[in-house]
Amino acid sequence: MKITVSLQALASGAAFGLAGLMWAVPASASGELTVYCSVQEEWCRPMVQAFERETGIKVNMTRKSSGETLAQIKAEAANPRGDVWWGGTGDPHLQAAEEDLTVEYKSPMLDQLQPWAVSQAEQSGHKTVGIYAGALGYSFNTEMLASTGAPEPTCWSDLLREEFRDEVQVANPNSSGTSYTMVATLVQLMGEDKAFEYMKALHKNINQYTKSGAAPARAAATGETLIGITFQHDGVTQVVQGAPVKVVSPCEGTGYEIGSMSIIKGAPNMDNAKKWYDWALTPAAQEIGASANSFQVPSNKGAKAPEQAPDLSSVKLIDYDFAKYGSSAERTRLLTKWDAEVGAAP
Ligand code: PLP
Repeated sequence: MKITVSLQALASGAAFGLAGLMWAVPASASGELTVYCSVQEEWCRPMVQAFERETGIKVNMTRKSSGETLAQIKAEAANPRGDVWWGGTGDPHLQAAEEDLTVEYKSPMLDQLQPWAVSQAEQSGHKTVGIYAGALGYSFNTEMLASTGAPEPTCWSDLLREEFRDEVQVANPNSSGTSYTMVATLVQLMGEDKAFEYMKALHKNINQYTKSGAAPARAAATGETLIGITFQHDGVTQVVQGAPVKVVSPCEGTGYEIGSMSIIKGAPNMDNAKKWYDWALTPAAQEIGASANSFQVPSNKGAKAPEQAPDLSSVKLIDYDFAKYGSSAERTRLLTKWDAEVGAAP
């Protein structure tokens, strides 16, 4: 089943008069919680601090990329150590659900969420839920581009240009959910054969496959690379901090993520995991992202979308097939193929 995303709903994140809603936490709440966090460390930390402050629950947090976190949860399945997996792209969360690594939970907050976030929950049997959305793209360093004399890139096809030899950076799709979103996006945009031809040609221009998905945006900002392929909001983070970069929404169209959250099967602190889950879906918790320079579109209809969030209604989005590309068989097959045909290429 495909999720049909209302672009208007995706883009608006409008306040529906729920901004004043506060999450009521029992004063007696206590104990511990282990959170596996797959957004940027800069956003993970204030989330943890806010939750600790409001609940008195001590949080142990580990930050790892989406694919790495899935691998860790799988490795720990016989003896789970984590309670809740917060953030990261939706595909590996869907794979975790299919592989029975996460549990069903219907949060009372569900009816406050955008339709795309609820669809993510429904198609996983409520083993995961959407917490934010963002579109894939790339950013480039304007000063470095000027020194090449090349015109501004605007399309996926521009990244293959000779002038960009060793000047493009993207993460490894095995560790990074962002990069897997790119692989799945290109396959859906171009067809599988053409997409792999494209990625093999792009490989010649790649200077490094990073572990973390957002790292190439930082590298473009500092001039370590001319172009970084990431989610567009990761490029915006750099623009807001004054870096000489421009963010591109590729002309051919692009894919997007439904950043997700799941409770780990066998969670040692199940009650506290549910408290985090409900709290993380409140407007107040979701608005922490913008204050940490993370500009995704939040999933709670009452959370204010950051002003700087890319306007998704103006992005040419594909109808990303989350059920297919979040399935264990397809994700594993595409990653194996990428390793053999792209990652291993000279
Ligand atoms: N950080 C941000 C800001 C994101 O939007 C996402 C996507 O969900 C991630 C990190 C995921 O990172 P990775 O590609 O390293 O799995």
